Amino acid sequence: MIEDKQPQRTSLSDLGEFGLIEHLTQHFDIKHESTLKSIGDDAAVVDFADQQCVITTDLLVEGVHFDLSYVPLKHLGYKSVMVNLSDVYAMNATPKQITVSIAVSNRFPLEAIEELYAGIRTAAKIYNIDVIGGDTTSSQKGLLISITALGHAKKEEIVYRDGAKDNDLVVLSGDIGGAYLGLQVLERENEVFKVNPNNQPDLDPYSYIVERQLKPEARKDIIELLKELDVQPTSMIDVSDGLSSEIMHICKSSKVGATLYEEKIPLDPTVISTCEEFELDSTTIALSGGEDYELLFTVKQEDYDKIKANPSLTIIGHITPENNGIYLVTRGDTKVEIKARGWNSLTE
Ligand code: ADP
Ligand code: MG
Repeated sequence: MIEDKQPQRTSLSDLGEFGLIEHLTQHFDIKHESTLKSIGDDAAVVDFADQQCVITTDLLVEGVHFDLSYVPLKHLGYKSVMVNLSDVYAMNATPKQITVSIAVSNRFPLEAIEELYAGIRTAAKIYNIDVIGGDTTSSQKGLLISITALGHAKKEEIVYRDGAKDNDLVVLSGDIGGAYLGLQVLERENEVFKVNPNNQPDLDPYSYIVERQLKPEARKDIIELLKELDVQPTSMIDVSDGLSSEIMHICKSSKVGATLYEEKIPLDPTVISTCEEFELDSTTIALSGGEDYELLFTVKQEDYDKIKANPSLTIIGHITPENNGIYLVTRGDTKVEIKARGWNSLTE
């Protein structure tokens, strides 16, 4: 195969705003009955009948949330959708629609925005989401992307951060720390590349963590699993900022404390080996690295049998009374207080 060395660059100003909107939105088909009106009017209309509507939004800014020197636009589009869906799942709700708003500088050709939308379209297809609107405008510099997701759930199904009770089990889906380390690897390779552009990075040994960073998946499967297991979490949050700040959010909202166990924190072998290579402490990374988009939740003790054998779920601790504080019991069996950013391993 001969590679196309001269990719096409269609100027956005040739299309104009309406041309661009039309071009970007032409392939969005509608999958849900709840989508009454989609793109093409002043506003979209959805109808969740007797269910409650869950709404969440995220804004991603070039240079702050992503760096296009190592994030492919297709992945960025996909991830922008994931971060929103993850918030809907964290309410134990089902996302159905998104709106997509972008601000682009004329440094981007149409083909670049098409890539971004290819990622958005793939995410919408896999996660069964209707794209029902958005806004398109220019920016002086860089790319901004804001996505809003709508979902629904029965009133009694919605899980908030404030429902954790003393003795509940603290459960985590999947494994954590990978996305942060993936970013470290990408940043290192990007520095190497700047010095020597002929150097082709070998990311193979890091494929798991690079994928965790570039192409995270929202845990739709966990929400479905919990329904199958007939487990209604008492509280839930998605892990976007790191385990320590997420458990603190749950504890603060629920007015409880928590004890977590270092040895229980689920880590992929790649996370452990990459931590060794970068001379980082894997527990610190698990606690304060972010962007894993796993679900952290609490369940009643009586649900233990339903979840204990599941390979996607790990019990990492339990809820305590508020005045017990939030602690990590280390492998060496010492108790250290969990702080907003990581943990205080030196002073305790
Ligand atoms: P308005 O002038 O009412 O803001 P626009 O011309 O911006 O309308 O948008 C026309 C239609 O296209 C609307 O339905 C809007 O939701 C949709 N739309 C605009 N930009 C985007 C986008 N980037 N992605 C998806 N839909 C979009
Ligand atoms: Mg508009």
